[in-house]
Amino acid sequence: MALLRFAPSPTGSLHLGGLRTALFNHLLARKLGGTWLLRIEDTDATRYDPQSVAGIKAGLQWAGIAPENADAPYYQSQRLDLYHEHAKKLLDQRLAYRCFCSPDTLAETRQRLSSLGSNATYDRTCLHLTDEEVHRRLRAGHKHVVRLLDTAVPTRPSIADMVFGAFKDVHTSLSTDTVLLKSDNFPTYHLASVIDDHDMGVTHVVRGEEWLASLPLHLDLYACFGWKPPEFGHLPLLLNADGTKMSKRASGWKVSSFEESGFEPEAVLNWLFLLGLSTSTHDEEVFRLEEMLQRFDLNHFSTHRAILDRSKLLHLNRSH
Ligand code: GLU
Repeated sequence: MALLRFAPSPTGSLHLGGLRTALFNHLLARKLGGTWLLRIEDTDATRYDPQSVAGIKAGLQWAGIAPENADAPYYQSQRLDLYHEHAKKLLDQRLAYRCFCSPDTLAETRQRLSSLGSNATYDRTCLHLTDEEVHRRLRAGHKHVVRLLDTAVPTRPSIADMVFGAFKDVHTSLSTDTVLLKSDNFPTYHLASVIDDHDMGVTHVVRGEEWLASLPLHLDLYACFGWKPPEFGHLPLLLNADGTKMSKRASGWKVSSFEESGFEPEAVLNWLFLLGLSTSTHDEEVFRLEEMLQRFDLNHFSTHRAILDRSKLLHLNRSH
């Protein structure tokens, strides 16, 4: 059975981009006769906002699309053992290694590499530590991270994105030997989300275009673990009227601010829904969720970035 997930990081209020991702997860899950779940990706202790989980749940409830587990979502912070177990597998297979370099050393290394014209971010100093030395440092309680050994990764599976189509090996903006486990014992988003998607049996990942650049790394992790990747569909970025990227932090795009201003949830959902249709001739109508479901097809979703035009929303709210 199809299983999807909405996986927000609890770093602030639910904003329109998040609501749109949740809506498309809801629609695709229903279209495929499956279901979807809420997973709170709270692996970044420095950006954690304790208020935000309640806000995310309230926003989904207001919109009428909360998934079944909305009252008891998964929290990645409660699944740390699972991530450590899997990181250990990668270490044992020499697909990953422990790095003890301090932030200062890393900053110096980066500077040195860039002055040599390299865009690598790490020089693999710690890859050359002997097992004995690694154990000595571990016993002495030295802080460390676990890095993926990029060059040891088996062949990456080739896939087609549901929205962006054939996935060419886009250049990833991520660093050399990406960190998988951080020195505070938390996994990075990349490791945790790949393990969770596999462990939970997620069949389709629908998320924002900002994660497209991470897809090569995620596919590498699937290859390392020997797992079949799910289907992926990345939703084009939402833009402000002036063409700049919608900021998650801009208060005007908070879902709660639309609720407070008296907007009908369906007008907001329609606005977000219509933004993605490449052949929309129906901007005048307000669809119920059932009708959206009938018209919904990610393969006909536009790859163009959509501009958030408030006048359309006002129109949709009035005609409701
Ligand atoms: N935690 C990520 C975010 O809040 C979601 C990424 C994903 O869906 O894989 O943007």
